[in-house]
Amino acid sequence: MNPCVKKVLVIGGGFSGMTAAIELRKQNIDTDIVEIDPDWRTDGAGISIGGATLRAFKTIGILDEFKKQGSAHSGLDVHAPHGVHLAHIPTPVIGDPDVPNSGAIMRPALAKILAEKTRQSGATIKLGCTFTEIKQHENGADVTFTDGTTVTYDLIIGADGLFSKVRKDQFPDAADPEYVGQGVWRAVLPRLPEVNNTMMWVGPNLKVGLNPMSKDQMYLFLTQDKKVKERVDRADYVSQLKALMMTFPAPMIQQLAGMLNEDSLVDFRALENLLVPRPWYNNRVVLIGDTVHATTPHLASGACIGIEDAIVLAEELASASVLTEALEAFQNRRWERCRMVVENSGRLAQIEVEGGDKEEHTAIMRETMMTLAQPI
Ligand SMILES: Cc1cc2nc3c(=O)[nH]c(=O)nc-3n(C[C@H](O)[C@H](O)[C@H](O)COP(=O)(O)OP(=O)(O)OC[C@H]3O[C@@H](n4cnc5c(N)ncnc54)[C@H](O)[C@@H]3O)c2cc1C
Repeated sequence: MNPCVKKVLVIGGGFSGMTAAIELRKQNIDTDIVEIDPDWRTDGAGISIGGATLRAFKTIGILDEFKKQGSAHSGLDVHAPHGVHLAHIPTPVIGDPDVPNSGAIMRPALAKILAEKTRQSGATIKLGCTFTEIKQHENGADVTFTDGTTVTYDLIIGADGLFSKVRKDQFPDAADPEYVGQGVWRAVLPRLPEVNNTMMWVGPNLKVGLNPMSKDQMYLFLTQDKKVKERVDRADYVSQLKALMMTFPAPMIQQLAGMLNEDSLVDFRALENLLVPRPWYNNRVVLIGDTVHATTPHLASGACIGIEDAIVLAEELASASVLTEALEAFQNRRWERCRMVVENSGRLAQIEVEGGDKEEHTAIMRETMMTLAQPI
């Protein structure tokens, strides 16, 4: 069947936008991608990658590269703040012998792998560029860019993230992201030989975790309750994180706090979420990824659902003869899974902030992971 679109614009070159470009090109759909950052940078420390994301990497064709540059492992070990081992939570098996259960990688490394694949796909990439106007009409959508050009497209995919300009422009009634009362610290550290899978130490108000992300590196994350969303001065990052880590008596966390220094890569982010109600499309503009469903990292699945959106959207566009049918099928296939991740992550944050039921916390994590392992 002929795809219902011939020429598509992707706005935003993050994980979701790059995957959309790669998958559309596989369907021979003429694809342009515009990214506002002239250097196409991705900041940040490590990113945890679940089995469902690794399955998506296989579809995209980047699983082998991930295995070379990242770390594949299995299961989660939970400890008390003083270090006693409490539980081993297995990660669900995806059911494909090539696809590991979980893993992690440096964010910039993953972005580079996807950017290389996007370049190879034959998509036209414009960096340091965005749109100034979208005019929809019966036969297409005319997009004017910051470089002064205007091009007509059959479809525009908004993938410009949490603070999306496409969403503001085309879905003016959509609510803004909501702060959840927590922030997360992340740091890159040399990998200790005893860290072979995800490890967590859970205190009453703080949670700290480790994830190996290559042969030599691991990343640390620490969630901190903060009633009000506030900026932390970069100059204070290392001292503040160190002080928080020192509240965990576990010998490994004390050792790692001692390893942090002014050259360490440390990051802090206030956590926000967003779930735009359906419809996720407005005639010829459709939203994917964080643009339409941004989640806190409690289930480490935000990138996963954005990447899956892109895969599913390309499949539906390739198999439908009418655009509205493809977009309707896309959002129907995606809604329940994305809602589950955003709402369950939000509930986990709430339980942590309120010091709620740990059993409910564990049950939500286990059930969501099992559901995510199901085919998309
Ligand atoms: C602290 C934290 C930790 C996380 N950890 C994990 C994890 O471990 N595992 C996981 O799966 N997920 C995790 N996530 C979620 C994950 O990072 C996001 O879901 C994912 O990066 C979203 O990708 P995206 O491409 O949809 O959006 P983005 O990554 O936001 O990409 C948007 C892109 O659009 C560009 N852009 C912005 N505005 C414009 C414009 N006007 N025009 C053109 N381009 C524009 C941006 O420069 C960017 O390149 C985490 C999130 C947070 C906040």
